[in-house]
Amino acid sequence: MSARSRIIGPYDEQRHALIAHLRSRGITDPDVLQAMDLVPRERFVQDFMRNRAYEDTALPIDDRQTISQPYTVALMTQALGVHDGMKILEIGTGSGYQAAILAAMGAKVITIERHPKLSAQARERLAALGLSAECRVGDGTIGYTGKAPYDGIIVTAGAPDVPEPLARQLSIGGRLIVPVGDLEQQTLYRVTRTADEAWNVEDLGPVKFVPLIGVEGWQADG
Ligand code: SAM
Repeated sequence: MSARSRIIGPYDEQRHALIAHLRSRGITDPDVLQAMDLVPRERFVQDFMRNRAYEDTALPIDDRQTISQPYTVALMTQALGVHDGMKILEIGTGSGYQAAILAAMGAKVITIERHPKLSAQARERLAALGLSAECRVGDGTIGYTGKAPYDGIIVTAGAPDVPEPLARQLSIGGRLIVPVGDLEQQTLYRVTRTADEAWNVEDLGPVKFVPLIGVEGWQADG
């Protein structure tokens, strides 16, 4: 699927309604709204949940994880300031939906997931839509030095603190969007690397995510 092509299907009306809703909640970036109007979210949820794909809510996926709420996806993508050709690392592939939005906006996407099954499902979904993203399995809290530095890094799970390896894998001017807090609630931060050893941190408001598990995140249960 090219960024400009359009999926025609039974969910078109619901998808357009969701876009209007996102606009009413303050999402203004036309490229974010266009990408979310192109990518069929129903293809990223479990089959029996397809009729709920355009509710503005997180939904359960396999391995006790979630596909994020559309408003949160829009907010984080807008905060990243995505443009064509931008190199973006995503931590927490989950369903693959966020990666699909970034790819539809013309970004070069590398996405890391700790659950191999979710990564394989996401790879399949993205390929079926003709969207290109490199899906890797591993602990994303340490980033991926193989393709660093990144113009943008987006973490779609809640961290106890800003993972330092991720801040260090940003290019100068690069932005890291990361939820930081406890297991109940987090604050969405935008961390911009302003110089070799300088980062600016902005508070973008409260969010709620499943935990980021890894050496620079929370410990896994049991
Ligand atoms: N971006 C996803 C989407 O569009 O569906 C939603 C992500 S879900 C809220 C958070 C994901 O982060 C889960 O799939 C979880 O397994 C993953 N995760 C948690 N810790 C991780 C880590 N250290 N490295 C990679 N993935 C991680």
